[in-house]
Amino acid sequence: MALFAARDMETTIACPHCSGHLHIARTCHEVYMRCPTCGKHFPLRDFVSRADAAMEHFLENVYCDRI
Ligand SMILES: [Zn+2]
Repeated sequence: MALFAARDMETTIACPHCSGHLHIARTCHEVYMRCPTCGKHFPLRDFVSRADAAMEHFLENVYCDRI
């Protein structure tokens, strides 16, 4: 099975904990931010107001998948 939409993408948003770059990631039912450097997860809603281009692109794909 081919997966065209990424399930994990690096963003330019700094981790509030360690200042590493956060990744946006998703499971079947939720999207969240995770930090590969310190391993913490953060709710997406805390970062939506400052979404960068990578996050916007990722979220477009999430919504397409639900059609
Ligand atoms: Zn971190």
